Amino acid sequence: MAHEVLVSLLTAGLKATRIAQACRERKQLFEILVQEKGKLRNNVADFKTLADVFIQQVAKTELEKKIPSLGERVFGEENNEFTNTLGESIVVEVKPTMEETCNLLAKVLDGNHVAARLLAVEAHSNVEDQIEKIDKETAEKLSMCEVDIDNIAVWIDPIDGTAQYVGGIYKEAKDKHGVHGRGLQCVTVLIGMYNIQTGLPIMGVVCQPFYENVEGLKRSWKSRCFWGVCCNDVRVSNVKLLVAASIFLLFKKKNVLNRSGDLNCTVITSPHDKQAYRVVASCDGVEHCTGGGAGYKCLCVIEGLVDGYLYTGDACYKWDTCATHAILSSLGGSIVNLTQAQTKFNPQETLKHLQLLYNTPNPHPSSPWANIGGILAFGPSNK
Ligand SMILES: [Mg+2]
Repeated sequence: MAHEVLVSLLTAGLKATRIAQACRERKQLFEILVQEKGKLRNNVADFKTLADVFIQQVAKTELEKKIPSLGERVFGEENNEFTNTLGESIVVEVKPTMEETCNLLAKVLDGNHVAARLLAVEAHSNVEDQIEKIDKETAEKLSMCEVDIDNIAVWIDPIDGTAQYVGGIYKEAKDKHGVHGRGLQCVTVLIGMYNIQTGLPIMGVVCQPFYENVEGLKRSWKSRCFWGVCCNDVRVSNVKLLVAASIFLLFKKKNVLNRSGDLNCTVITSPHDKQAYRVVASCDGVEHCTGGGAGYKCLCVIEGLVDGYLYTGDACYKWDTCATHAILSSLGGSIVNLTQAQTKFNPQETLKHLQLLYNTPNPHPSSPWANIGGILAFGPSNK
């Protein structure tokens, strides 16, 4: 069953990737995408939001095909109701046929049938034969893992790094760590599955729709996709690039992020997170770099380009971390609450008991699904 569930997550991720790419690659969609918010005559929401909502619906539809009962437990940031210029309220969703989906989208897009059709074609395309094949050994491991279908739910972020997505910088060079500070490479599709009872992530798919620019063509991209499963005692992923001797981040003294042994470590932060700068600066042997998008920064940890990702604010949400958290768990890393890690960490223990959970909303007046208190993502310990 885990195998089937994974395939449905991968299919959803690939379809989402295709639509995200199409909105930048197809002239008719791109022109609407880069319009300023409100300039779309439907001034309730911009096209970026429509793309976001539509991708989420496509992913949800894909998951429902394999697990019909899951539809009600697929969560994300946006709601799927739009109002068009005629004041009609329209629920954006994938209809049974391409024609119906096209007509529905055209209503939100004020009659732009060309754009509506491009989106509908992608939503109804068959991509299953294009997803990464799962080898025999991996399939055997997955067969040991029972997914309790009645106790799972999904957090989706259809386009993480929307500012980078609309900004569209595509020639930004990597820094010395191999990290893109900004640009389309920082855009990710995040699909994370968690157990409703424990709140822990069990399966994650992260796609990078704009991984590699094809021969310097602004509008032609190769994508890539990472996945990981951490369910019962089964830990398996397709991550092979991880640098093995990743450094464990230790809070040796209160509020101090410290190095382990003689190794230097590198921490990635948001360029706007001044408090994170201060935390990093207070630690010996910790280098610092910046990148766009929470999903991308976690991906840098997954790949072993950096050792940790630190975020001190409250504006990172469950849909931003669930997928990468699952993959990090499959590798022996995790994502924990930063404030708790700074105040409650005991050097004799791992940080695992401070992991983020995905099943319980924050009490009012906090934003219900924010990761309050900041986050720390880290790769596997080398200790
Ligand atoms: Mg996001």
